Amino acid sequence: MLKIAIIGGGFSGTLLSTHLVRNAAGPMEVILINESDVLNTGIAYDPYSEKFLLNVIASRMSAFPADPDHFLNWVMLRDHFKGKERELIGNSYLPRKLYGEYLKDIWEETLRQAKENQVAVRVINSAVVDISHANDSLDLILNDGKTVQAEYGIIASGNHLPGNPQIKSSFFKESSNYFQNPWDRRSVSDLNSNKPVLIIGNGLTMVDTVMGLLEQGFSGQIISISPNGFNILPHRHNGLAYTKLLEEISSGTSLYQLVKLFNIHKKLVRAYGLSAEPIIDSLRPLTQKIWMNLTIREKRVFMARLRHLWGVARHRIPLNIHDKLQQLRIDGQLHIYSGKISDIVECQGDITAMFFDKKQQREVQIQVSRVINCTGPETDLLKLETNYLKNALLKGVLSQDELKLGINADPNTFELINEKGSIESGLFTIGSNLKGVLWESTAVSEIRVQAVQIANRIHSLNTQKLAFKILSS
Ligand SMILES: Cc1cc2nc3c(=O)[nH]c(=O)nc-3n(C[C@H](O)[C@H](O)[C@H](O)COP(=O)(O)OP(=O)(O)OC[C@H]3O[C@@H](n4cnc5c(N)ncnc54)[C@H](O)[C@@H]3O)c2cc1C
Repeated sequence: MLKIAIIGGGFSGTLLSTHLVRNAAGPMEVILINESDVLNTGIAYDPYSEKFLLNVIASRMSAFPADPDHFLNWVMLRDHFKGKERELIGNSYLPRKLYGEYLKDIWEETLRQAKENQVAVRVINSAVVDISHANDSLDLILNDGKTVQAEYGIIASGNHLPGNPQIKSSFFKESSNYFQNPWDRRSVSDLNSNKPVLIIGNGLTMVDTVMGLLEQGFSGQIISISPNGFNILPHRHNGLAYTKLLEEISSGTSLYQLVKLFNIHKKLVRAYGLSAEPIIDSLRPLTQKIWMNLTIREKRVFMARLRHLWGVARHRIPLNIHDKLQQLRIDGQLHIYSGKISDIVECQGDITAMFFDKKQQREVQIQVSRVINCTGPETDLLKLETNYLKNALLKGVLSQDELKLGINADPNTFELINEKGSIESGLFTIGSNLKGVLWESTAVSEIRVQAVQIANRIHSLNTQKLAFKILSS
Protein backbone atom coordinates (compact mmCIF):
# COMPACT_ATOMS: atom_id res chain seq x y z
CA MET A 1 0.00 0.00 0.00
CA LEU A 2 1.22 3.51 -0.83
CA LYS A 3 2.58 5.25 2.27
CA ILE A 4 3.01 9.00 2.63
CA ALA A 5 4.58 10.44 5.76
CA ILE A 6 4.11 14.01 6.94
CA ILE A 7 6.39 15.41 9.62
CA GLY A 8 4.38 17.97 11.58
CA GLY A 9 0.69 18.21 12.34
CA GLY A 10 0.08 21.97 12.34
CA PHE A 11 -1.77 23.91 9.63
CA SER A 12 0.54 22.52 6.92
CA GLY A 13 0.32 18.87 7.99
CA THR A 14 -3.44 19.10 8.41
CA LEU A 15 -4.09 20.63 4.98
CA LEU A 16 -1.64 18.27 3.29
CA SER A 17 -3.54 15.32 4.79
CA THR A 18 -6.83 16.79 3.59
CA HIS A 19 -5.66 17.13 -0.01
CA LEU A 20 -3.92 13.73 -0.06
CA VAL A 21 -7.17 12.16 1.15
CA ARG A 22 -9.21 14.08 -1.42
CA ASN A 23 -6.87 12.98 -4.25
CA ALA A 24 -6.71 9.32 -3.21
CA ALA A 25 -7.25 7.01 -6.17
CA GLY A 26 -6.83 3.76 -4.24
CA PRO A 27 -5.86 2.38 -0.85
CA MET A 28 -3.09 4.33 0.85
CA GLU A 29 -1.81 5.32 4.26
CA VAL A 30 -1.15 8.88 5.40
CA ILE A 31 1.13 8.89 8.44
CA LEU A 32 1.12 12.16 10.34
CA ILE A 33 3.95 12.43 12.85
CA ASN A 34 3.51 15.27 15.29
CA GLU A 35 5.79 16.07 18.20
CA SER A 36 3.41 18.33 20.09
CA ASP A 37 0.41 17.01 22.02
CA VAL A 38 -1.82 19.44 20.15
CA LEU A 39 -2.83 18.41 16.67
CA ASN A 40 -3.90 20.63 13.75
CA THR A 41 -3.30 24.02 15.32
CA GLY A 42 0.47 24.34 15.77
CA ILE A 43 1.75 27.27 17.80
CA ALA A 44 -0.18 29.88 15.87
CA TYR A 45 -3.72 28.63 16.42
CA ASP A 46 -3.43 27.21 19.94
CA PRO A 47 -2.39 30.39 21.74
CA TYR A 48 -2.35 30.61 25.52
CA SER A 49 -4.68 33.61 25.35
CA GLU A 50 -8.19 33.74 23.89
CA LYS A 51 -7.47 37.37 23.08
CA PHE A 52 -4.70 36.77 20.55
CA LEU A 53 -6.06 37.72 17.15
CA LEU A 54 -5.37 36.67 13.58
CA ASN A 55 -3.36 39.31 11.77
CA VAL A 56 -5.36 38.80 8.57
CA ILE A 57 -9.06 39.60 8.16
CA ALA A 58 -11.48 36.66 8.30
CA SER A 59 -12.50 36.85 4.64
CA ARG A 60 -8.88 36.11 3.63
CA MET A 61 -8.25 33.18 5.96
CA SER A 62 -9.89 30.31 4.07
CA ALA A 63 -7.80 27.14 4.27
CA PHE A 64 -8.78 26.34 0.67
CA PRO A 65 -7.63 28.48 -2.27
CA ALA A 66 -10.46 27.11 -4.43
CA ASP A 67 -13.08 28.08 -1.84
CA PRO A 68 -12.11 31.58 -0.64
CA ASP A 69 -15.17 32.00 1.61
CA HIS A 70 -14.72 28.67 3.39
CA PHE A 71 -13.55 30.16 6.71
CA LEU A 72 -16.05 33.02 6.71
CA ASN A 73 -18.92 30.63 5.91
CA TRP A 74 -17.78 28.39 8.78
CA VAL A 75 -17.60 31.38 11.14
CA MET A 76 -21.08 32.64 10.23
CA LEU A 77 -22.55 29.26 11.23
CA ARG A 78 -21.12 29.47 14.79
CA ASP A 79 -23.72 30.35 17.43
CA HIS A 80 -21.77 33.42 18.50
CA PHE A 81 -21.82 34.92 14.99
CA LYS A 82 -25.32 33.95 13.86
CA GLY A 83 -27.31 37.02 12.84
CA LYS A 84 -24.22 39.26 12.84
CA GLU A 85 -23.34 41.36 9.82
CA ARG A 86 -21.31 39.19 7.41
CA GLU A 87 -19.48 42.14 5.85
CA LEU A 88 -18.33 43.34 9.27
CA ILE A 89 -17.21 39.88 10.43
CA GLY A 90 -15.43 39.28 7.11
CA ASN A 91 -13.36 42.40 7.71
CA SER A 92 -12.61 41.54 11.34
CA TYR A 93 -9.53 40.14 13.04
CA LEU A 94 -10.94 37.10 14.80
CA PRO A 95 -9.34 35.10 17.64
CA ARG A 96 -6.59 32.68 16.61
CA LYS A 97 -8.16 30.13 18.95
CA LEU A 98 -11.32 30.20 16.80
CA TYR A 99 -9.17 29.49 13.75
CA GLY A 100 -7.79 26.48 15.63
CA GLU A 101 -11.36 25.17 16.03
CA TYR A 102 -11.86 25.64 12.30
CA LEU A 103 -8.76 23.52 11.59
CA LYS A 104 -10.01 20.81 13.95
CA ASP A 105 -13.30 20.73 12.03
CA ILE A 106 -11.39 20.38 8.75
CA TRP A 107 -9.47 17.50 10.32
CA GLU A 108 -12.66 15.71 11.41
CA GLU A 109 -14.04 16.07 7.89
CA THR A 110 -10.75 14.74 6.49
CA LEU A 111 -10.96 11.64 8.70
CA ARG A 112 -14.55 11.07 7.57
CA GLN A 113 -13.59 11.38 3.91
CA ALA A 114 -10.55 9.14 4.45
CA LYS A 115 -12.86 6.27 5.40
CA GLU A 116 -14.88 6.78 2.21
CA ASN A 117 -11.73 6.92 0.05
CA GLN A 118 -10.03 3.86 1.61
CA VAL A 119 -7.27 5.95 3.14
CA ALA A 120 -5.84 4.94 6.50
CA VAL A 121 -4.79 8.01 8.48
CA ARG A 122 -2.33 7.20 11.27
CA VAL A 123 -1.27 9.87 13.75
CA ILE A 124 1.95 9.26 15.66
CA ASN A 125 2.56 11.57 18.61
CA SER A 126 6.34 11.58 18.49
CA ALA A 127 9.31 13.58 17.18
CA VAL A 128 11.28 12.68 14.11
CA VAL A 129 14.96 12.78 15.11
CA ASP A 130 16.59 11.67 11.86
CA ILE A 131 15.74 10.99 8.24
CA SER A 132 17.35 9.11 5.39
CA HIS A 133 16.16 9.01 1.82
CA ALA A 134 17.52 6.67 -0.84
CA ASN A 135 16.12 4.83 -3.86
CA ASP A 136 12.59 6.17 -3.44
CA SER A 137 12.45 4.99 0.15
CA LEU A 138 12.20 7.30 3.12
CA ASP A 139 13.14 6.23 6.65
CA LEU A 140 12.05 8.44 9.52
CA ILE A 141 13.62 7.67 12.89
CA LEU A 142 11.44 8.59 15.85
CA ASN A 143 12.65 9.60 19.31
CA ASP A 144 11.61 6.21 20.74
CA GLY A 145 13.96 4.52 18.26
CA LYS A 146 11.19 3.22 15.98
CA THR A 147 11.39 3.73 12.21
CA VAL A 148 8.58 4.83 9.92
CA GLN A 149 8.99 3.96 6.25
CA ALA A 150 7.22 5.68 3.39
CA GLU A 151 7.50 6.26 -0.36
CA TYR A 152 6.85 10.00 -0.08
CA GLY A 153 7.56 12.44 2.71
CA ILE A 154 6.78 16.06 3.49
CA ILE A 155 8.68 18.15 6.00
CA ALA A 156 5.97 20.29 7.59
CA SER A 157 7.50 20.93 10.99
CA GLY A 158 7.08 24.72 10.90
CA ASN A 159 9.22 27.29 12.65
CA HIS A 160 12.12 26.67 14.99
CA LEU A 161 12.46 28.45 18.32
CA PRO A 162 14.26 31.80 18.31
CA GLY A 163 18.05 31.62 18.43
CA ASN A 164 19.60 32.49 21.80
CA PRO A 165 21.02 36.02 22.12
CA GLN A 166 24.66 36.39 21.09
CA ILE A 167 26.00 37.75 24.36
CA LYS A 168 29.23 37.45 26.33
CA SER A 169 27.64 35.38 29.13
CA SER A 170 26.22 32.76 26.80
CA PHE A 171 25.42 30.49 29.79
CA PHE A 172 22.58 32.91 30.65
CA LYS A 173 20.47 30.79 28.28
CA GLU A 174 20.35 28.13 31.03
CA SER A 175 18.68 30.54 33.48
CA SER A 176 15.17 29.70 34.68
CA ASN A 177 14.38 33.41 34.19
CA TYR A 178 15.15 33.24 30.47
CA PHE A 179 12.38 32.11 28.11
CA GLN A 180 13.54 31.04 24.69
CA ASN A 181 9.99 30.01 23.78
CA PRO A 182 7.76 33.11 23.81
CA TRP A 183 4.69 31.10 22.77
CA ASP A 184 4.70 29.16 26.05
CA ARG A 185 2.27 30.51 28.65
CA ARG A 186 4.96 30.12 31.33
CA SER A 187 6.92 32.97 29.73
CA VAL A 188 4.34 35.47 31.01
CA SER A 189 3.17 33.74 34.22
CA ASP A 190 4.18 34.08 37.87
CA LEU A 191 5.79 37.49 37.65
CA ASN A 192 6.39 40.11 40.28
CA SER A 193 5.32 43.53 38.98
CA ASN A 194 8.00 45.33 41.03
CA LYS A 195 10.70 44.58 38.49
CA PRO A 196 10.71 45.18 34.73
CA VAL A 197 10.54 42.43 32.15
CA LEU A 198 12.87 42.52 29.15
CA ILE A 199 11.54 41.44 25.78
CA ILE A 200 14.19 40.96 23.11
CA GLY A 201 12.62 41.82 19.76
CA ASN A 202 9.98 44.22 18.57
CA GLY A 203 7.71 42.33 16.18
CA LEU A 204 4.34 40.58 16.31
CA THR A 205 5.50 38.11 18.99
CA MET A 206 6.53 41.02 21.19
CA VAL A 207 2.99 42.39 20.82
CA ASP A 208 1.48 39.04 21.87
CA THR A 209 3.86 38.86 24.81
CA VAL A 210 2.98 42.36 26.02
CA MET A 211 -0.73 41.49 25.81
CA GLY A 212 -0.07 38.16 27.54
CA LEU A 213 1.78 39.90 30.39
CA LEU A 214 -1.11 42.34 30.91
CA GLU A 215 -3.64 39.52 30.85
CA GLN A 216 -1.67 37.77 33.59
CA GLY A 217 -2.01 40.91 35.70
CA PHE A 218 1.55 42.18 35.23
CA SER A 219 1.57 45.92 35.94
CA GLY A 220 5.33 46.54 35.94
CA GLN A 221 7.59 48.05 33.30
CA ILE A 222 8.03 46.25 29.99
CA ILE A 223 11.20 46.97 28.02
CA SER A 224 11.62 45.89 24.41
CA ILE A 225 15.01 46.09 22.71
CA SER A 226 15.61 45.38 19.04
CA PRO A 227 18.29 46.47 16.57
CA ASN A 228 16.02 48.97 14.83
CA GLY A 229 13.26 49.66 17.35
CA PHE A 230 10.77 50.36 14.56
CA ASN A 231 7.24 51.21 15.52
CA ILE A 232 4.71 48.51 14.73
CA LEU A 233 2.03 49.78 12.37
CA PRO A 234 -1.71 49.18 12.57
CA HIS A 235 -3.81 47.89 9.69
CA ARG A 236 -5.34 50.87 7.89
CA HIS A 237 -7.11 51.40 4.56
CA ASN A 238 -8.70 47.94 4.62
CA GLY A 239 -9.73 46.91 1.16
CA LEU A 240 -8.12 49.78 -0.76
CA ALA A 241 -6.51 48.12 -3.79
CA TYR A 242 -3.61 50.06 -5.32
CA THR A 243 -2.41 48.41 -8.52
CA LYS A 244 -0.39 51.14 -10.22
CA LEU A 245 3.03 49.96 -9.00
CA LEU A 246 2.32 46.39 -10.12
CA GLU A 247 1.66 47.63 -13.65
CA GLU A 248 5.20 49.02 -13.82
CA ILE A 249 7.05 45.94 -12.58
CA SER A 250 8.41 43.32 -14.94
CA SER A 251 10.56 40.23 -14.44
CA GLY A 252 13.64 42.34 -15.22
CA THR A 253 12.98 45.01 -12.56
CA SER A 254 16.02 45.29 -10.30
CA LEU A 255 15.87 45.87 -6.55
CA TYR A 256 17.18 49.39 -7.08
CA GLN A 257 14.44 50.17 -9.65
CA LEU A 258 11.83 48.61 -7.40
CA VAL A 259 12.77 50.80 -4.45
CA LYS A 260 12.82 53.85 -6.72
CA LEU A 261 9.36 53.03 -8.12
CA PHE A 262 8.04 52.37 -4.63
CA ASN A 263 9.21 55.79 -3.45
CA ILE A 264 7.52 57.49 -6.43
CA HIS A 265 4.21 55.76 -5.67
CA LYS A 266 4.57 56.43 -1.96
CA LYS A 267 4.78 60.16 -2.75
CA LEU A 268 1.71 59.84 -4.97
CA VAL A 269 -0.50 58.23 -2.32
CA ARG A 270 0.85 60.53 0.40
CA ALA A 271 -0.47 63.46 -1.65
CA TYR A 272 -3.96 62.01 -1.03
CA GLY A 273 -3.27 61.71 2.68
CA LEU A 274 -2.82 57.93 2.51
CA SER A 275 -0.01 55.77 3.87
CA ALA A 276 2.11 53.40 1.75
CA GLU A 277 0.48 50.22 3.09
CA PRO A 278 -1.85 49.59 0.12
CA ILE A 279 1.23 49.72 -2.14
CA ILE A 280 3.01 47.10 -0.04
CA ASP A 281 -0.14 44.95 0.04
CA SER A 282 -0.49 45.21 -3.74
CA LEU A 283 2.92 43.53 -4.13
CA ARG A 284 1.79 40.41 -2.27
CA PRO A 285 0.71 38.34 -5.30
CA LEU A 286 4.06 39.08 -6.96
CA THR A 287 6.38 38.97 -3.95
CA GLN A 288 7.58 35.40 -4.54
CA LYS A 289 8.31 36.11 -8.21
CA ILE A 290 10.10 39.36 -7.39
CA TRP A 291 12.23 37.56 -4.79
CA MET A 292 13.12 34.72 -7.16
CA ASN A 293 14.15 37.21 -9.85
CA LEU A 294 16.57 39.07 -7.57
CA THR A 295 20.25 38.25 -7.84
CA ILE A 296 21.95 36.84 -4.76
CA ARG A 297 23.69 40.21 -4.36
CA GLU A 298 20.32 42.01 -4.39
CA LYS A 299 18.91 39.53 -1.87
CA ARG A 300 21.84 40.24 0.43
CA VAL A 301 21.29 44.00 0.09
CA PHE A 302 17.60 43.50 0.84
CA MET A 303 18.40 41.46 3.95
CA ALA A 304 20.94 43.98 5.22
CA ARG A 305 19.10 47.22 4.48
CA LEU A 306 15.43 46.69 3.72
CA ARG A 307 14.28 43.57 5.53
CA HIS A 308 13.29 45.38 8.74
CA LEU A 309 11.41 48.09 6.87
CA TRP A 310 9.63 45.42 4.86
CA GLY A 311 8.76 43.56 8.06
CA VAL A 312 7.23 46.67 9.63
CA ALA A 313 5.23 47.50 6.50
CA ARG A 314 4.01 43.92 6.00
CA HIS A 315 3.39 42.63 9.52
CA ARG A 316 0.81 44.98 10.94
CA ILE A 317 -1.56 44.60 13.86
CA PRO A 318 -5.27 45.24 14.43
CA LEU A 319 -6.00 48.88 15.26
CA ASN A 320 -7.36 48.24 18.76
CA ILE A 321 -4.18 46.37 19.75
CA HIS A 322 -2.08 49.17 18.27
CA ASP A 323 -4.02 51.74 20.31
CA LYS A 324 -3.40 49.70 23.45
CA LEU A 325 0.36 49.59 22.78
CA GLN A 326 0.47 53.33 22.17
CA GLN A 327 -1.37 53.95 25.44
CA LEU A 328 1.09 51.73 27.31
CA ARG A 329 3.94 53.81 25.87
CA ILE A 330 2.23 57.09 26.80
CA ASP A 331 1.59 55.75 30.31
CA GLY A 332 5.27 54.86 30.62
CA GLN A 333 4.70 51.13 31.05
CA LEU A 334 6.12 50.04 27.70
CA HIS A 335 9.54 51.26 26.53
CA ILE A 336 10.84 50.44 23.08
CA TYR A 337 14.57 50.87 22.52
CA SER A 338 16.66 50.56 19.44
CA GLY A 339 19.90 48.96 20.50
CA LYS A 340 22.19 45.99 20.68
CA ILE A 341 22.36 43.81 23.77
CA SER A 342 25.98 43.03 24.63
CA ASP A 343 25.50 40.98 27.78
CA ILE A 344 22.97 39.66 30.27
CA VAL A 345 24.19 38.47 33.66
CA GLU A 346 22.30 37.01 36.58
CA CYS A 347 23.34 37.10 40.22
CA GLN A 348 21.06 35.52 42.84
CA GLY A 349 17.95 36.11 40.75
CA ASP A 350 18.88 39.72 39.83
CA ILE A 351 19.33 40.10 36.09
CA THR A 352 21.32 42.95 34.56
CA ALA A 353 21.10 43.52 30.82
CA MET A 354 23.62 45.75 29.07
CA PHE A 355 22.88 47.33 25.74
CA PHE A 356 23.98 50.13 23.47
CA ASP A 357 21.12 52.62 23.14
CA LYS A 358 21.29 53.85 19.52
CA LYS A 359 19.18 56.95 20.17
CA GLN A 360 21.14 58.15 23.20
CA GLN A 361 24.41 56.80 21.74
CA ARG A 362 25.49 55.33 25.07
CA GLU A 363 25.79 52.07 26.99
CA VAL A 364 22.83 51.43 29.28
CA GLN A 365 22.31 48.90 32.08
CA ILE A 366 18.87 47.77 33.17
CA GLN A 367 17.73 45.50 35.99
CA VAL A 368 14.98 43.05 35.07
CA SER A 369 13.39 39.97 36.56
CA ARG A 370 12.91 38.02 33.33
CA VAL A 371 14.06 37.92 29.71
CA ILE A 372 11.68 36.73 26.98
CA ASN A 373 13.11 36.02 23.55
CA CYS A 374 10.81 37.38 20.81
CA THR A 375 13.43 37.67 18.08
CA GLY A 376 11.66 35.34 15.65
CA PRO A 377 12.48 31.81 14.58
CA GLU A 378 16.07 30.69 13.99
CA THR A 379 16.44 29.76 10.34
CA ASP A 380 20.07 28.63 10.14
CA LEU A 381 19.88 24.88 10.73
CA LEU A 382 23.52 24.68 11.79
CA LYS A 383 22.79 27.00 14.71
CA LEU A 384 20.15 24.64 16.14
CA GLU A 385 21.32 22.48 19.02
CA THR A 386 19.68 19.23 17.96
CA ASN A 387 17.26 18.81 15.15
CA TYR A 388 16.49 16.19 12.51
CA LEU A 389 16.86 18.80 9.77
CA LYS A 390 20.34 19.68 11.02
CA ASN A 391 21.21 15.95 10.87
CA ALA A 392 19.78 15.72 7.36
CA LEU A 393 21.81 18.77 6.33
CA LEU A 394 25.01 17.27 7.73
CA LYS A 395 24.28 14.01 5.87
CA GLY A 396 23.66 15.90 2.63
CA VAL A 397 20.01 14.82 2.23
CA LEU A 398 19.11 18.50 2.12
CA SER A 399 20.87 21.81 1.66
CA GLN A 400 20.21 25.34 2.83
CA ASP A 401 19.57 28.33 0.58
CA GLU A 402 22.47 30.79 0.25
CA LEU A 403 21.02 33.13 2.89
CA LYS A 404 20.30 30.30 5.34
CA LEU A 405 16.65 31.30 5.62
CA GLY A 406 15.39 27.76 5.16
CA ILE A 407 15.76 24.63 3.07
CA ASN A 408 16.72 24.58 -0.59
CA ALA A 409 13.91 23.25 -2.74
CA ASP A 410 12.58 23.33 -6.27
CA PRO A 411 10.40 26.48 -6.38
CA ASN A 412 7.78 24.75 -8.54
CA THR A 413 7.43 21.33 -6.91
CA PHE A 414 8.85 22.03 -3.41
CA GLU A 415 10.98 18.86 -3.61
CA LEU A 416 14.22 19.13 -1.65
CA ILE A 417 17.55 19.85 -3.30
CA ASN A 418 20.38 17.84 -1.74
CA GLU A 419 24.00 18.86 -1.15
CA LYS A 420 24.95 17.73 -4.67
CA GLY A 421 22.32 20.06 -6.13
CA SER A 422 20.05 17.20 -7.26
CA ILE A 423 16.34 16.89 -6.56
CA GLU A 424 15.39 14.43 -3.80
CA SER A 425 12.38 13.19 -5.74
CA GLY A 426 9.39 12.47 -3.51
CA LEU A 427 10.71 14.38 -0.48
CA PHE A 428 9.04 17.77 -0.08
CA THR A 429 8.89 20.71 2.26
CA ILE A 430 6.27 23.38 2.86
CA GLY A 431 5.73 26.68 4.64
CA SER A 432 8.41 28.52 6.57
CA ASN A 433 11.19 26.17 5.39
CA LEU A 434 10.71 27.68 1.92
CA LYS A 435 11.46 31.23 3.03
CA GLY A 436 14.86 31.36 1.32
CA VAL A 437 13.38 30.09 -1.94
CA LEU A 438 10.17 32.15 -1.96
CA TRP A 439 10.62 34.79 0.77
CA GLU A 440 6.87 34.96 1.55
CA SER A 441 6.03 31.44 2.66
CA THR A 442 4.77 31.45 6.24
CA ALA A 443 1.17 32.63 6.14
CA VAL A 444 -2.02 30.72 5.42
CA SER A 445 -2.34 32.41 2.01
CA GLU A 446 0.86 30.75 0.79
CA ILE A 447 0.75 27.45 2.66
CA ARG A 448 -2.79 26.60 1.53
CA VAL A 449 -1.64 26.81 -2.11
CA GLN A 450 1.54 24.79 -1.47
CA ALA A 451 -0.49 22.02 0.23
CA VAL A 452 -2.63 21.60 -2.89
CA GLN A 453 0.41 21.64 -5.19
CA ILE A 454 2.34 19.05 -3.17
CA ALA A 455 -0.65 16.70 -2.91
CA ASN A 456 -1.20 17.00 -6.68
CA ARG A 457 2.49 16.41 -7.39
CA ILE A 458 2.52 13.25 -5.24
CA HIS A 459 -0.61 12.07 -7.02
CA SER A 460 0.95 12.54 -10.47
CA LEU A 461 4.34 11.06 -9.47
CA ASN A 462 2.57 8.00 -8.12
CA THR A 463 0.36 7.65 -11.19
CA GLN A 464 3.50 7.76 -13.38
CA LYS A 465 5.18 5.15 -11.17
CA LEU A 466 2.19 2.81 -11.40
CA ALA A 467 1.97 3.25 -15.18
CA PHE A 468 5.69 2.47 -15.49
CA LYS A 469 5.28 -0.67 -13.35
CA ILE A 470 2.38 -1.89 -15.50
CA LEU A 471 4.28 -1.22 -18.74
CA SER A 472 7.43 -2.96 -17.55
CA SER A 473 5.64 -6.06 -16.16
C1 LIG B 1 2.09 33.23 16.75
C2 LIG B 1 1.78 33.13 15.29
C3 LIG B 1 0.65 33.73 14.76
C4 LIG B 1 0.37 33.63 13.40
N1 LIG B 1 -0.74 34.24 12.91
C5 LIG B 1 -1.03 34.12 11.59
C6 LIG B 1 -2.20 34.73 11.04
O1 LIG B 1 -2.95 35.39 11.74
N2 LIG B 1 -2.45 34.56 9.71
C7 LIG B 1 -1.61 33.85 8.90
O2 LIG B 1 -1.89 33.73 7.71
N3 LIG B 1 -0.49 33.27 9.40
C8 LIG B 1 -0.19 33.39 10.71
N4 LIG B 1 0.94 32.80 11.20
C9 LIG B 1 1.78 32.04 10.29
C10 LIG B 1 1.71 30.54 10.60
O3 LIG B 1 3.06 30.17 10.68
C11 LIG B 1 1.04 29.67 9.59
O4 LIG B 1 -0.23 30.18 9.38
C12 LIG B 1 0.90 28.19 10.04
O5 LIG B 1 0.37 28.12 11.32
C13 LIG B 1 2.18 27.39 9.96
O6 LIG B 1 1.82 26.05 10.16
P1 LIG B 1 2.85 24.85 10.04
O7 LIG B 1 2.04 23.62 10.13
O8 LIG B 1 3.71 25.02 8.86
O9 LIG B 1 3.79 25.00 11.31
P2 LIG B 1 3.41 24.83 12.86
O10 LIG B 1 2.09 25.41 13.14
O11 LIG B 1 4.58 25.35 13.61
O12 LIG B 1 3.28 23.25 13.08
C14 LIG B 1 4.40 22.41 13.02
C15 LIG B 1 4.09 21.13 13.77
O13 LIG B 1 5.20 20.26 13.58
C16 LIG B 1 5.51 19.62 14.80
N5 LIG B 1 6.94 19.26 14.78
C17 LIG B 1 8.01 20.08 14.85
N6 LIG B 1 9.15 19.36 14.80
C18 LIG B 1 8.79 18.06 14.68
C19 LIG B 1 9.52 16.84 14.59
N7 LIG B 1 10.85 16.80 14.61
N8 LIG B 1 8.82 15.68 14.50
C20 LIG B 1 7.45 15.69 14.48
N9 LIG B 1 6.73 16.83 14.57
C21 LIG B 1 7.39 17.99 14.67
C22 LIG B 1 5.17 20.64 15.87
O14 LIG B 1 4.94 19.99 17.10
C23 LIG B 1 3.92 21.31 15.27
O15 LIG B 1 2.75 20.67 15.70
C24 LIG B 1 1.24 32.90 12.56
C25 LIG B 1 2.38 32.29 13.10
C26 LIG B 1 2.65 32.39 14.45
C27 LIG B 1 3.87 31.72 15.01
